Amino acid sequence: MRTRRTALVTGANRGIGYEVSRALASEEMRVLLTGRDRTAIEAAAEGLRNEGDVLPFVLDVADRRSVEACREWLRRRGESVDVLVNNAGIYEGGPLLSTSPEVLRRVLETNFWGAAWTCQAFLPPMVERGYGRVVNVSSGYGAFAEGLQGPGAYALSKAALNALTLRLAHEVSGDVKVNAACPGWVRTRMGGSEAPRSVEEGADTIVWLATLGPEGPSGGFFRDRQPIEW
Ligand code: NAP
Repeated sequence: MRTRRTALVTGANRGIGYEVSRALASEEMRVLLTGRDRTAIEAAAEGLRNEGDVLPFVLDVADRRSVEACREWLRRRGESVDVLVNNAGIYEGGPLLSTSPEVLRRVLETNFWGAAWTCQAFLPPMVERGYGRVVNVSSGYGAFAEGLQGPGAYALSKAALNALTLRLAHEVSGDVKVNAACPGWVRTRMGGSEAPRSVEEGADTIVWLATLGPEGPSGGFFRDRQPIEW
């Protein structure tokens, strides 16, 4: 019998995070659907009720206390996280030299620190149990190999997220894998209506990494299930 895994997805109330959650729930995982707005995340969970086992929780990744509260809530319920999808993200700013400190801080807090806090909270127990999958939803804009394009704060935040991915992959042991994914340009509120990819296409590589078998890669950066350069 297959072990029923529990996945925690951040920024799951809409866009790619919602689709990843739907796909993981339909693969028989228990999905902790998290988002920063209670009404939005409860509505999203209601929308996925027929897809499988989903449980909403309010989690603002930019607030470390919120991550701690989530960990404590799960501990009290006796729940452990087997799969962590760091999907929450914001896309703001322009050239770095004219980006305000507030925007720079907000983008880094959400896209980088948010993932760092959730990894610190949920990865050590994965290592203890000897199983875990972490997928950091990054972007080609965070790749040195692709020129760190896009808004400066966003590119910086995703480059830092890539560095976090590689570093943590070196720190874990057992059947614990840490990878990053670029979903491509996807039709969401962030990607806009002109983007060529559907949310299903954007979610595909993320879901693949979240459900890798023991032979799968770790410490890599993937688009369309293929490794890409950092
Ligand atoms: P989206 O539709 O704008 O969704 C972003 C999600 O992140 C929303 O659920 C949003 O919640 C949530 N979020 C933002 N700040 C948060 C916080 N502090 N705490 C918790 N949740 C927060 O964007 P998307 O296109 O689905 O993007 C998902 C991921 O893919 C992001 O990391 C993005 O950088 C990456 N990505 C997207 C594209 C693309 O073309 N769409 C390309 C490359 C990478 P609210 O509803 O509360 O705002």
